[in-house]
Amino acid sequence: MSRTLLFIFIFISSFLVNSNLFAQVANEVKIIHAGTLLADARQAVSTQQSIIVRNNIIEEVREGFIQPGEVSGTNGAKIIDLSNQFVMAGLIDSHTHILSQQEPNRREITVTRTSEYSALLGVEFGMRTLRAGFTTIRNVGGDRNAIFALRDAINEGVVMGPRIRASGQGITPTGGHGDGGGFRDDVFPEPHSGVCDGISECRRAVRTQIKYGADHIKYVATGGVLSITATGTEQQFTDEEQIALVQAAHAMGRKVAAHAHGKTGMMTALRAGVDSIEHGSYLDEEVANLFVQTGAYLVPTLIAGHTVERIASEQPDFYLPEVRLKALEVGPIMRNALRIAYETGVKIAYGTDAGVNDHGTMLMKQF
Ligand SMILES: [Zn+2]
Repeated sequence: MSRTLLFIFIFISSFLVNSNLFAQVANEVKIIHAGTLLADARQAVSTQQSIIVRNNIIEEVREGFIQPGEVSGTNGAKIIDLSNQFVMAGLIDSHTHILSQQEPNRREITVTRTSEYSALLGVEFGMRTLRAGFTTIRNVGGDRNAIFALRDAINEGVVMGPRIRASGQGITPTGGHGDGGGFRDDVFPEPHSGVCDGISECRRAVRTQIKYGADHIKYVATGGVLSITATGTEQQFTDEEQIALVQAAHAMGRKVAAHAHGKTGMMTALRAGVDSIEHGSYLDEEVANLFVQTGAYLVPTLIAGHTVERIASEQPDFYLPEVRLKALEVGPIMRNALRIAYETGVKIAYGTDAGVNDHGTMLMKQF
């Protein structure tokens, strides 16, 4: 772990450990002495600052190294000495799958892994994420019971981890990316709760995720690289289904993330009113202009594209043949899409698809 990341970790861990489960500690004050502080990414760093934290909330930042009692209400405050360190706020990863990580026996895991085990994996992967400097993640698809339990346990201080905004299960059409193909229906239930076809089923699928605790909705507008059905990377949900999904989510105050690689799927999702497009691999000038018009964010997930491309070329047997072909094609295309999006003025949010790449490597991996 690099020194800088360690400092971030020390900084954030001081906020996240609750000594008393389920109870707010009354008036607990900490003063962080920051040698160099990046408080606002739009402004220059400042040196020798004190961050006053009351009950895990930053109250104010003061010049110089304040001692307990020097400022009213800080008697007995605990000093966290980072006076020769670089301190900054935690980072946000807008696209993670915190409950899992790529494994070669993926098909078997799809039908054998329990929610309980996924939640425990999420605790470990969450810690790796935290150590990499990310204090907030937006989880876009995963076992519903596991992710909501993990999110709530972190919020209540039962386990440590990054703040999680969770979608529950990703919503997918029958046979689409997310409806793992190729299993007997007694082994892989048909339909499972993230699957919908037609307008009323799609509204219901959204409302079901919200009922169980979804902070936002994720649906798959197009095929995906790692789906084991050879269904390409183009539009899968119809225009009408996507409008129904977005309207149902917005009506209940939830934002919508659409997984999309192919151009037609991106255009439909943007016209349907999604708040973000995930991946955006085949984005061109026309798509970029529509992004600017609707104000949607692009979450480009470059590390995921790079990772699957690398695995597919270095380990020919890791993926099934239909997945390997998509992996080799999509990786390089994603990089070009980001360049076009940036030059057109599309709003871009940082997201990695962590789980495709290993958790905790989202900042450090160079390519
Ligand atoms: Zn993803």
